[in-house]
Amino acid sequence: MVPFDDRDGFIWFDGELKPWREANVHVLTHGLHYASAVFEGARAYGGRVYALTEHSERLRASAEMMGFPLPWSVAEIDAAVMATLKANGLSDAYVRPVAWRGSEQMGVSAQATKPHMAIACWAWGAYFGADALKKGLRLTIAKWRRPAPYTAPTKAKASGLYMICTMSKHEAEAAGYQDALMLDWRGQVAEATGANVFFVKGETLHTPTPDCFLDGITRRSVMRLAERRGLKVVERAIWPEELEGFEQAFLTGSAAEVTPLAEIGPWRFEVGATALGLAKDYSDLVNGRLNA
Ligand code: PMP
Repeated sequence: MVPFDDRDGFIWFDGELKPWREANVHVLTHGLHYASAVFEGARAYGGRVYALTEHSERLRASAEMMGFPLPWSVAEIDAAVMATLKANGLSDAYVRPVAWRGSEQMGVSAQATKPHMAIACWAWGAYFGADALKKGLRLTIAKWRRPAPYTAPTKAKASGLYMICTMSKHEAEAAGYQDALMLDWRGQVAEATGANVFFVKGETLHTPTPDCFLDGITRRSVMRLAERRGLKVVERAIWPEELEGFEQAFLTGSAAEVTPLAEIGPWRFEVGATALGLAKDYSDLVNGRLNA
């Protein structure tokens, strides 16, 4: 794989498009030491970024929750994303805006730091590989749990919240799995390391209430698509023991899109018509073939 700091192209950086290899920060950057950083992940399909404004709004909201409001408006972030795609000649791509506290001050206190923002984009195929849609993913159960909302800003897409996601994902991969299902601090089912989770039983979808993890943009879109198909959608607390009774399961996320699951720990799921139908609906929606 070509390292991410050694590629051709342009990265939007604090208001200007910089040559890719020159989009650098100093090692004494607050965001790097203290995780005072937030980010987004979106995808462009045929030149249109799906739910672009929602992503820009969430980036601003995340930074605000972390105490470093961004000086760029939602419209400015939207325009910067589109300018970055254009500069790189990309119409189908993953888009990664990131914002962080700079190197103006070191130490836990960061009052003098300034907010910075960069936007990169690159061609990125299926997050879980081309086979995932056919075979379904194999997930283990993570040892780490999603923190309680009173221990971390769990509504923010904050870099610090991903520390346990990377650790969980690595443990899963080392054991031959593709991802891990994370429980929350109470022991209820929460989400995967970078995507939300849904379960299917008959004509009903069950998904955990997002009270300590991201209420994903894809999650909300898929809930609308499910209702359009006449499925009932239930948001509730789900305990791991209940996984025994579900027929299908799938993940949702801007990167992961809709990806069926074949197993989670000891439980097995069918890669069935509901999961595959919603995967198709989502693909139609983001590609502008469906209005929902
Ligand atoms: N949870 C986590 C931990 C994620 O990283 C993501 C991806 N942003 C999601 C859920 C899904 O969010 P979205 O559908 O907005 O991409």
